[in-house]
Amino acid sequence: MTSIDSHKKAKALKPGSVRPAKELCSECGLCDTYYIHYVKEACAFITQRIDELETSTHKRPRNLEDENELYFGVHQEMMSARKQQPIEGAQWTGIVSTIAIEMLNQGLVEGVVCVQNTKEDRFQPMPIIARTAEEILAAKVNKPTLSPNLSVLEEIEKSGMKRLLVIGVGCQIQALRAVEKKLGLEKLYVLGTPCVDNVTRAGLQKFLETTSRSPETVVSYEFMQDFRVHFKHEDGSEETVPFFGLKTNVLKDIFAPSCMSCFDYVNSLADIVVGYMGAPYKWQWIVVRNDTGKEMLELVKDQIDTQPVMSKGDRKPAVQQSIPAYDQAVTLPMWAAKLMGVVIDKIGPKGLEYARFSIDSHFARNYLYVKRNHGEKLEAHVPEFAKRIVGQYKLPE
Ligand code: FAD
Ligand code: SF4
Ligand code: SF4
Repeated sequence: MTSIDSHKKAKALKPGSVRPAKELCSECGLCDTYYIHYVKEACAFITQRIDELETSTHKRPRNLEDENELYFGVHQEMMSARKQQPIEGAQWTGIVSTIAIEMLNQGLVEGVVCVQNTKEDRFQPMPIIARTAEEILAAKVNKPTLSPNLSVLEEIEKSGMKRLLVIGVGCQIQALRAVEKKLGLEKLYVLGTPCVDNVTRAGLQKFLETTSRSPETVVSYEFMQDFRVHFKHEDGSEETVPFFGLKTNVLKDIFAPSCMSCFDYVNSLADIVVGYMGAPYKWQWIVVRNDTGKEMLELVKDQIDTQPVMSKGDRKPAVQQSIPAYDQAVTLPMWAAKLMGVVIDKIGPKGLEYARFSIDSHFARNYLYVKRNHGEKLEAHVPEFAKRIVGQYKLPE
């Protein structure tokens, strides 16, 4: 056995056993494989390496003097987009699934790491290596829970696959980039989504039960740009709940400790990121980080409408007010929450300014969480870009 594959001697951890990152583990899946050998340098919660990995992945560091790069990471271009013919049942219009299908159909890759759900539970993640368009389509829509996407890494090496696409969220992608060279691939493509406020399966149940009128029929939900949570139900109906009416006192504890300590909201190490928060209501938002990402987007250009990104409003007063409100777990009565939602939707931040609103308020909350619960990690764990973002606000002790 050469030093290249010395990791094969390492033993995956058993399901349910304590992970090296302890309570901060986001269950990314790495420790379910022999790649646990690299956990110290790969785990986003043991060694935060975003700056260094950005430079090696994108061939240059993030330009912290440019506001868009400070917030959204290294990129060549950003745009708003939507599929001309949306995929029914996708989280948004299905741009992620469409890119993956085209990459497979056009022979750029032999397999796609994505996450389906189990037969018994639509929200229980089941990572797979998809080898057909049908398998990719069966992974559409968010599983809004921690998902061990990297648990299929051993299978990739054993399959002899040389060209691979991985779809994933920030913490999974940091660990993936750290072991990329050990996977025996000729080419790795990474398609990311932004990610924030993720939960365990039990946490998700609590969220649904405290927030939706009919938790058992929810098929998907999203925190939308109109400051409301939109739930889609099995019968096709939609339910909306204003952010300001959420029962913060109950929900405060449901987010996973990993996600309360996460500063990679925008998935800095993916080649291309597809989300929604920098785009107008009902549109998706695309961030092309490097030439590989550009190559991926080209494959679907004829299937999507695009428009330039826009930015409107001033987020800063709303962010500053939200910090103590969250900290003290303030919940407004529903009539006031609805009114506030309507007002802020009319005059509040839009487009990139909405994305900055969301990043600012989550980074401030997470910074306080790490400071209070893992103070010894604060300096090394919070990346420089996040320190600068949080530094714009007055935080409680
Ligand atoms: P689809 O075509 O429906 O494909 C969805 C893809 O997501 C599938 O390929 C599947 O493999 C993958 N996936 C599903 N669940 C997971 C998971 N748990 N971990 C890893 N991969 C998964 N975007 C924002 O702009 N702002 C946000 O705050 C935001 N929060 C998010 C939180 C979570 C937990 C997740 C999973 C995504 C979040 N996104 C956010 C991304 C956004 O919700 C959409 O996933 C994205 O816009 C793609 O939509 P689509 O219709 O193109 O995807
Ligand atoms: Fe292992 Fe991933 Fe958990 Fe870190 S987050 S301890 S790499 S499973
Ligand atoms: Fe991972 Fe961060 Fe998403 Fe949590 S919020 S699942 S830590 S990327």
